[in-house]
Amino acid sequence: MMYMNAGPNRGHIEVICGPMFSGKSEELISRLNRVRIARQRCQIFKPRLDDRYDKNKIVTHSAQRLEAVVVGSSQELLENVDWKAAVIAIDEVQFFDEGIVEVCEKLANSGKRVVVAGLDLDFLGHPFGPVPRLLAVAEYVTKQLAVCMKCGSLASRSQRLAPHTETVLVGSKDLYEARCRHCWDPTETLDAAQPPLFPRPEKAPPAPRKPRKPAK
Ligand SMILES: [Zn+2]
Repeated sequence: MMYMNAGPNRGHIEVICGPMFSGKSEELISRLNRVRIARQRCQIFKPRLDDRYDKNKIVTHSAQRLEAVVVGSSQELLENVDWKAAVIAIDEVQFFDEGIVEVCEKLANSGKRVVVAGLDLDFLGHPFGPVPRLLAVAEYVTKQLAVCMKCGSLASRSQRLAPHTETVLVGSKDLYEARCRHCWDPTETLDAAQPPLFPRPEKAPPAPRKPRKPAK
C-alpha cells in the first residue's frame, strides 16, 4: 500500500492539497481511519485560527469529525507532540507559520509518518503560506480537485464570494466556491471590495502653494 510504513523508523511526509470543497479533510480522515484500524497511535493537530464548527475537532464539510489538538504556532505544535504516536496529522496546514516545514521534517526524520492537509492556493491564486515548501519536501503529494460551481468541470481554485481583501478569511460555503481555472476570477471580489466597504481615500487636496516671494 502506497502510504504504509515499510517498518519502524521509516518516517515520511504526505501532503493532501487542493482548493476548498475538494475533500482534503475527508481524505485525511480516511487515511487516519486506516491508521486506527492498523492500531497505530495517531495525533491530530489543527491551527487555532480555524474555529469553524468545532474548536478541538477536525470537521469535514460532510461533518465527519476527529479529536484534534488546537495549537497557535508550529513551535506550540512541536511542544505538544506525543512522541509515542506513529502518525502525526495536521489539518488546515496553510494557516501555520513557515516553521511548520522544519517541524514536519523533524517529525519525519524521527520516524513519524506525517500527513498534512491544506489549501495549496489562496483566493488570489498565490501559493498559500508554508504549503509550497511542504510540497517540495514531501515524499507523497495528493492534489485533490473539486467541481467548478459555474461550469461543472474539475476545479483547482477557490473563489472568494465575500468582498474582503485579507488572505486569511476563515469560512465555508457562503464565503467561497470551487472554480476551474477558466471560471475563477480573483478580481471579482477585489472589485466588490471597493465602496462602500473599503471606500477609496479621497484625493488629497493640493498642497497649499507657497506664497510667492514678493518681487523685489
Ligand atoms: Zn468552470
